[in-house]
Amino acid sequence: MYERGDVIMRSKPFAFIIITKYREEVCEACWEKIGDGKEKCQGCGYVYFCSKKCQESVIEKHNPECKVLQNCDEKKLRKVPEQLRLVLRIWLIKQNSDENELSESYNGYTRTYEEMMDHAEDLKGNSLKYVDSHYSLFKDVFTGVDLPDIEEFISIYGKIITNSFSLRTDRLINPEAFGTGVYLMPSIIDHSCTPNCTVVFRGTELLIVATQTVPDGKIQEVAKISYVNIMEDTAWRQLQQRAIWYFECDCDLCKNKSLDEEKHSLACEHCSKPVPVNIQALQKPGNCRACKKPVTSQHFIKYKNLHESVLKLNSRVENLIKKHGENGVTGEVCAEESISYNETAEWCVGEMEDVFSLRDITYIQLLHYVFTVCCTNERWSAGVVYGERALSSLEFYYGEKAGLLASLNMRLGICHGELGNTEMSSLYLDKADDIYRLVPGEKHPFYSQDFQTIYNAYEKCDQDSN
Ligand SMILES: [Zn+2]
Ligand SMILES: [Zn+2]
Ligand SMILES: [Zn+2]
Ligand SMILES: [Zn+2]
Repeated sequence: MYERGDVIMRSKPFAFIIITKYREEVCEACWEKIGDGKEKCQGCGYVYFCSKKCQESVIEKHNPECKVLQNCDEKKLRKVPEQLRLVLRIWLIKQNSDENELSESYNGYTRTYEEMMDHAEDLKGNSLKYVDSHYSLFKDVFTGVDLPDIEEFISIYGKIITNSFSLRTDRLINPEAFGTGVYLMPSIIDHSCTPNCTVVFRGTELLIVATQTVPDGKIQEVAKISYVNIMEDTAWRQLQQRAIWYFECDCDLCKNKSLDEEKHSLACEHCSKPVPVNIQALQKPGNCRACKKPVTSQHFIKYKNLHESVLKLNSRVENLIKKHGENGVTGEVCAEESISYNETAEWCVGEMEDVFSLRDITYIQLLHYVFTVCCTNERWSAGVVYGERALSSLEFYYGEKAGLLASLNMRLGICHGELGNTEMSSLYLDKADDIYRLVPGEKHPFYSQDFQTIYNAYEKCDQDSN
């Protein structure tokens, strides 16, 4: 049996790539932020390290890829989808490794590369055209080397889609994913929308950590992590699960759809209780269930229009990514676009108050986003307003002890601390401490260094003002 905070599994990356945007910022060997000791591979000029030592530590592993990259047309290479670079890496690893290196063991369990699911048949059935075009691109970019045939390509490609993790730093620096990685051992852990474990990074290692009691039993049967955002409604979660992992989840949250009702709901204009809206049909709901008074057309139209505005706002970001490519959303275009996106998002959030119920996930997600933008821009008072408005709803959907709540509480503690509200600041920082102390845990550098520094800084304010 495992208790909250226990490490269930540790795993080293089998293969990974750092996305182009972070290529010069994140070390290829240790994933630390690259500082003064920056080293560029002199062979391919394409990968970067934080030090000579790091470069030397992976030189043998990098060599086969280095030779291929040296032969590539730089322009083509810059545009190639990140996934295809990962396919190449895995292919080269397979070519240059013995059997031992193609498997990983932990605590009596073993997982081999071959055992990882690839859903090749499904891919051929549903997305053959797409995969075919990627294969052509792959052969066009990476030349002068033996490449996998289409069957092998689909298998590697499928294993990546099915088993990869977004790589995030284990520290406070940047919450955005900087790459994609495939880990062998953790691929035995299945999904649940009510998971009892979570993923924690420690350097390049991936840890599966219990967030609740995990009962005794075979690890693949008792431990679960979530592959999707558990706040999304069941229809959306299942759509993603089917499209990417080809499975039908039958967890409690998927079977009992009662939570879904209020995930799209307006605030009753009389009593402000949530009134569910059927988001597919987008028809005006009848009377409020609580006060029995009718929802007026005017109120519903406000909800509908704002809902559309937010969808448009989100699809604008998606289009931007499509237009510039995930690697290309940099420079001025992005800065300008993101400022106008943030302004519009904040405007929407203002308009949504009193129209959207605090159980409406579109509203809560946008509130949460605007909150983080305020924190980044040091707009502390606004941060407090948005953060506190989102807090109880996020607790309701994710549970009070979720990692997301720890970071929300920590930031609310910072906002209040900056405003001189010392009591509120320590209240939130203590709540964050309660969560972080167990996951990622006291020994994790995020806790012992980053979080403790923040915690002490505001505790010190507390003493200074007394
Ligand atoms: Zn390094
Ligand atoms: Zn190189
Ligand atoms: Zn489920
Ligand atoms: Zn009402």
